[in-house]
Amino acid sequence: MTAHASFFENVISYVDRAAALTKHSKGLLDQIKHCNSVYHFEFPIRHPDGSVEVVKAWRVEHSHHKLPTKGGIRYAPEVNEDEVKALAALMTYKCAIVDVPFGGAKGAIQIDPSKYSLDQLERITRRYTHELAKKNFIGPGVDVPAPDYGTGEREMAWIADTYSAMNPGQIDAIACVTGKPISQGGVRGRREATGRGCYYALREACAHADDMKALGLTPGIVGKRVVVQGLGNVGFHAAKFCREEGDAKIIAIIEREGAIFNENGLNETDVFQFRKETGSVLNFPGATNIPNSADALELECDVLIPAALENQITEANAERIQARIIIEGANGPTTPGAEEILLKKGVLIVPDVYANAGGVTVSYFEWLKNLSHVRIGRMGKRYEQAAETRMLHAIEVATGKRFTDTERNLVIKGPDEQDFVNSGLEDTMVEAYQRLREIWKADKRIPDLRTAAFYDAIEKVARTYGELGIFP
Ligand code: GLU
Repeated sequence: MTAHASFFENVISYVDRAAALTKHSKGLLDQIKHCNSVYHFEFPIRHPDGSVEVVKAWRVEHSHHKLPTKGGIRYAPEVNEDEVKALAALMTYKCAIVDVPFGGAKGAIQIDPSKYSLDQLERITRRYTHELAKKNFIGPGVDVPAPDYGTGEREMAWIADTYSAMNPGQIDAIACVTGKPISQGGVRGRREATGRGCYYALREACAHADDMKALGLTPGIVGKRVVVQGLGNVGFHAAKFCREEGDAKIIAIIEREGAIFNENGLNETDVFQFRKETGSVLNFPGATNIPNSADALELECDVLIPAALENQITEANAERIQARIIIEGANGPTTPGAEEILLKKGVLIVPDVYANAGGVTVSYFEWLKNLSHVRIGRMGKRYEQAAETRMLHAIEVATGKRFTDTERNLVIKGPDEQDFVNSGLEDTMVEAYQRLREIWKADKRIPDLRTAAFYDAIEKVARTYGELGIFP
């Protein structure tokens, strides 16, 4: 691997490494690897002073082995076609790993969203949707975007509204995009899903005593010293759940402007609020400033969660990374060269294609909700409550004991949408980790979790092509 390989080339190299361990033909592997459709287009936007700017945009559908294709849309000033191809490819493998029945896709607009007014962003997003619709690059059964870096619920609502307006009477129209606000057909728990999934990934990684011993760590997430890079949607929620549910200690938070460190632990919600008010994480009360963000990646810690952008851990800094576990909240944060160095140091890398798959998993639940036109759990909640009440009553009669109101309320709470979403997400992340770990441990040729993950994904995608009769 050359030091200057592109992001897509890096993804290809991860695929090749795992593909070499399978028995599939070159033809089938090529079909799996390459992008099925790459749509690049440009459109003008008018500024308040009357001048016109032409912006570049893309939608890449990496694999049509399952439809619809699925993947976020990123708004970033430096985004390019290679990056969108890489991210689309990662979506294919990610969906396969967590058994979400979609092909991979990704979209992007080359803009810095902070430089545009709300009104301009709305026009840009609606125009982008229009362009996708004209070429059949969006639709509930075709290609379903979602949020990614620089976009969120607001943009998804504009996309759903534009698509619906262009397809009057199409009953499933709002399933054309996920990550929508709840009021526009979104599902409870989608916003937190990627970060929550990272927490489950870490919890599973820490649950295996042998693996922890090999890292020189004790089993369990409690008390683990965590450094989080990025206080966006993924990093914020990963920190929150690791701290609140896992009892881990967030000792540092890294943002663009710098990083802050506190050995006793930081509260991500307070830091987020502070940054909102002051424009920076620096000078957060009680914390030490680390002015150079890159330095903070090298802090002594148990767990590093890169949850910002790609290419953060490279051959230039990998040797100095001190974390024992890396949970890849972002897509592509570690380059293949860096990974080689880290693996030699015995670091456990939980790869992006698994670690951040919580987002697309819950997107799948949102899509199902939209297609079924009913809130998840609406039919069963009361029924389950009544069944639990009858059960408690029977126990009371049989034992002569009376439950307190607190005990009663704990048991007879019927599950709501959020409960179902979290349970489905947890089950998905736990199952997938067990499978990947088994693949890794069972086959001597598979040296790490990333190779196991790509191996699992390639086998699943290949099986679909086999079942379609396209490849022998
Ligand atoms: N952009 C997210 C990702 O990289 C979510 C994709 C989706 O929900 O479709 O996984």
